[in-house]
Amino acid sequence: MTVEKPRVLIVEDEPTLAEGLKEALAFQGYECEIAEDGATGLEAARRGPFDVLLLDVMLPELSGFEVIEALRAEGNKTPTIMLTAKGAEDDRVQGLDLGADDYVTKPFAIRELVSRVGAQVRRARMDRGDGEEFEVDGMQFDLGRLECVRSGDEPVPLTPREGEILSYLRTRKGNVVTRDEFLLEVWKYPTANVETRTVDNTLAALRKKIERNPADPAIIKTVRGKGYRWGG
Ligand code: CA
Repeated sequence: MTVEKPRVLIVEDEPTLAEGLKEALAFQGYECEIAEDGATGLEAARRGPFDVLLLDVMLPELSGFEVIEALRAEGNKTPTIMLTAKGAEDDRVQGLDLGADDYVTKPFAIRELVSRVGAQVRRARMDRGDGEEFEVDGMQFDLGRLECVRSGDEPVPLTPREGEILSYLRTRKGNVVTRDEFLLEVWKYPTANVETRTVDNTLAALRKKIERNPADPAIIKTVRGKGYRWGG
């Protein structure tokens, strides 16, 4: 089985910000759609389904408030994060009152927003219990909920990309997975013949989250000069 890619709808009329968000979320394994005004956003959200809605307040056609109000009135419960302006405390209150689940204040760090999106996805998937669950080296993984936990510790959130990597390595158990194979099969790069540190950097970050000792990993092993291998 593969990790289901969470879908995010970005309703934002500032193209640079919308594209920046899309790029950052896509890198982490989310599938994104952009709507540049409130009316288009409402239509897209109705069509759905999306796992998370990122909703700017000040939008052409319909405001973010009008969009969330219409969706909630129709019984659409898509987890929604409002993008509010700095100093507009009333906007935050109004957004939450209308049924938004969270908000971030502009200007925000994209990294912070990406982690909030992950939190909404995990919350929404919490009760589904249809994910891929397994234990390796004392670490309990739940790829449906995108998290892992060692007994007695706090759960560690995983990005969709990290979930895909774990799932892929596991299905290739007993084989070496090369960097090129990762780029083609997990990142879906059209050609693997690119000079990139993406795989190594992402795996290093993932090991810090999941390994007891990232310098001597037990879950994702390094095969020198070749690639990586599932250690479970
Ligand atoms: Ca705006």
